[in-house]
Amino acid sequence: MEKFVYSFDEGSKEMKNLLGGKGANLAEMTKIGLPVPFGFTVTTEACNRYYEEGKQIGADIIEDIYIKLADLEKRTGKTFGSAANPLLVSVRSGAVFSMPGMMDTILNLGLNDETVIGLAELTQNPRFAYDSYRRFIQMFGDVVLEVHKAKFDAIFEAKKHEKGVHFDVELKTEDLQEIIVEYKKLVLQEMGHEFPQEPKDQLMEAIKAVFRSWNNDRAILYRQLNGIPSNLGTAVNVQSMVFGNMGDTSGTGVAFTRSPVNGEKKIFGEFLVNAQGEDVVAGIRTPQPIDEMAVAFPEVYVEFKRISELLEKHYTDMQDMEFTVERNQLFMLQTRNGKRTAAAAVKVAVDMEKEGLIDKMTAVTRLEPAQIDQLLHPKFDENELAKAVVLAKGLPASPGAASGKIFFTAADAVSAVANGEKAILVRKETSPEDLAGMVVAEGILTARGGMTSHAAVVARGMGKCCVSGCSEISVDEDTKIMAVGDKTFTEGDFLSLHGTMGVVYQGLVNTVAPALSGDFETIMEWADEIRTLKIRTNADNPRDAQQAVEFGAEGIGLCRTEHMFFEDERIPNVRRMIVADTEEERREALAVLLPYQKEDFKGIFEAMGQRPVTIRLLDPPLHEFLPHTEEEIKELAETINVPYEKLSRRVSELHEFNPMLGHRGCRLAITYPEIAEMQAEAIIMAAIELKKEKNMDVVPEIMIPLVGLANELSYVKKVVIQTIEKIFKREDTTVKYMVGTMIEIPRACVTADAIAKEAEFFSFGTNDLTQMTFGFSRDDTGNIIKEYRDKLIFEEDPFQTLDQVGVGQLIKMAVEKGKSVRPNIKLGICGEHGGDPKTIEFCHHAGLNYVSCSPFRVPIARLAAAQAVAKASKK
Ligand code: PEP
Ligand code: MG
Repeated sequence: MEKFVYSFDEGSKEMKNLLGGKGANLAEMTKIGLPVPFGFTVTTEACNRYYEEGKQIGADIIEDIYIKLADLEKRTGKTFGSAANPLLVSVRSGAVFSMPGMMDTILNLGLNDETVIGLAELTQNPRFAYDSYRRFIQMFGDVVLEVHKAKFDAIFEAKKHEKGVHFDVELKTEDLQEIIVEYKKLVLQEMGHEFPQEPKDQLMEAIKAVFRSWNNDRAILYRQLNGIPSNLGTAVNVQSMVFGNMGDTSGTGVAFTRSPVNGEKKIFGEFLVNAQGEDVVAGIRTPQPIDEMAVAFPEVYVEFKRISELLEKHYTDMQDMEFTVERNQLFMLQTRNGKRTAAAAVKVAVDMEKEGLIDKMTAVTRLEPAQIDQLLHPKFDENELAKAVVLAKGLPASPGAASGKIFFTAADAVSAVANGEKAILVRKETSPEDLAGMVVAEGILTARGGMTSHAAVVARGMGKCCVSGCSEISVDEDTKIMAVGDKTFTEGDFLSLHGTMGVVYQGLVNTVAPALSGDFETIMEWADEIRTLKIRTNADNPRDAQQAVEFGAEGIGLCRTEHMFFEDERIPNVRRMIVADTEEERREALAVLLPYQKEDFKGIFEAMGQRPVTIRLLDPPLHEFLPHTEEEIKELAETINVPYEKLSRRVSELHEFNPMLGHRGCRLAITYPEIAEMQAEAIIMAAIELKKEKNMDVVPEIMIPLVGLANELSYVKKVVIQTIEKIFKREDTTVKYMVGTMIEIPRACVTADAIAKEAEFFSFGTNDLTQMTFGFSRDDTGNIIKEYRDKLIFEEDPFQTLDQVGVGQLIKMAVEKGKSVRPNIKLGICGEHGGDPKTIEFCHHAGLNYVSCSPFRVPIARLAAAQAVAKASKK
């Protein structure tokens, strides 16, 4: 029969999935002989059953709980509900992954009008007994009965006021008794029934409340932000109470074995004399620094230090502990691996390796890849942030912090920055034409667009702070007004963006530069020694390429050539090429673009210093390059000397209802092979010239996008090869090169064996592959995905973290089929997922050779790739 309740001496730290983190660690501490008040854990499985069975605790589980309760009574020599010698317990949540402060806790359970009298007599300390009872009514009332906490607080504060005292410890027994009467009145009034007096009822209701708290709004949001699955459930720990509120020889505290802020090796924490656990967290009185415990409780402090050192060694990680001192006796109530800043994580990991506590393989797992962002981007001054006014929330599209003045167009931002201003570019959404503004802006805010929208992708590429899809704001770019609720903002008003959290603040919030320590480099070197996946970057200009190399990129996995087409001196010719009626006209326009493209590629090859570079042929729907408004069409007609009517007709001919599924990718090269010819020539000539001028051996990897049929690939490949052969003859020289394809259409995965016959490499374009597998437009689904996540249809945004079950299966199939035909085929991923740690772990196991991501994610990817190896070696 399945077991749903475990005593603390039946578990261990390995049983986290079943007992939750807190339960497993309480069991572990019990096992190694530390002073832990005895108790039992109701498992996460019981929580899942509670939900499956319509929010009821099964009769068999209730029976198990009572058996453990009887055992607890025996071991403590106290009886639940007995006035003579009452057993009191705490009821605490404990999920598999710690979710600090997200779920609920109830202390002093078992008190009622009779047991409180018993407790007062037994301890000869009536003040303590009534203080515990009033705390219990307050917590139970708030958490279980859901009577608003503020109502209890109001009664408490009024009593302090009435008695002319400042601190709760100054209230006398009689005052506390009066408060209890009023609390009970409040409960009767709010609930229509008396405060429950039967301890067993109290216990069951409290356990249910903790199960319920698994799905409170805070907990759901926390899980979404931290990628914690919603089906894990929480365990509930029922533990006999020890009391920190028994006078001046008692107290309670929390402490870390090292600093969670900067990693310094020194106990870090706080304690309060004559208090219970929640007082420290709630900030009711200002706690004392932990060092002062050496004075208040000298012997206990020595013991506490000994235990904290022992725990750190036992867990080989920095611990976050809760303890209580009851009449000079120390009890441990919790230990867990402490949450820490990125800077602390780096220092603790490197120090512990040097101390011989952990090896390098373990050290690289001690830093959350997502945390690395904190070390690479400017961040807000924490003090200032605490005071800042939150204006709206959007998607955390690109991390970092930015403050500046609002500008609504790229041109305005550019001229403002030229005049020494700091700009925040605010747009409904961005398009490639906003690039110049994005480059100069401190940060970007868009009202629309998801995590793979243009603004998000480009901002991440540039390492620029961006909040996208902020639907709470409305932006009118014509009148240059941004509105949030009834507040309006105009050009020049100050705004601050928290890209890591997706939060928009009103006004200016100052930033501080990140401090990169030598330890960070050390840990990255260890990661490089361990990982087997190569890390490339997505870059389409020498500046980004250079930045990526500094961050450790080993090549370019995706150079999107279309981004180069938007620059001022090129765009008229790009447009001329697109509206051309004949091949000849198109070739003329392309001839003008050729030298620009060649120089672009030379710059990139040089920045990469012979590291591999994959260049993708033109991909986006042509109409993206066209003017759309009448005015723009008129202007272009003049610039390129084409009659307005003709141009206007051509623009409407090129209109597509579903451009993402239309004239794009390899289809462009098939309908207009001369585009592919020009690009192939620019790529190969760049390599030839570098060979002649700088003696460099560049091996370009030419990549054909959006292939779904082997025949598409062979057609375009032939155009590319014929062009290159002609050049080799003309230039009387050769260079090595490769031709491969993107795999981003489901059909390509399913027929990857046929495609591999033609392709020397595959690069998985998981942005399109996700879009096409789900049938979800990548640019329009931000709001739908948010709904899906809120309603738990999606655990994660599939455009950020690869959907391994669906899209991942297609990738695995393509890998297998590709290798069956060409065992040495080079395999990579270049969609946005290439920078996502979970996806990187998947790629490692799927047998890819590299992942490619935006420059600022390269360090994240290096670490995540090492962690994939470390995790696998532990299994
Ligand atoms: C992709 O589809 O994953 C990809 C990398 O290409 P793009 O985002 O340019 O469509
Ligand atoms: Mg694509």
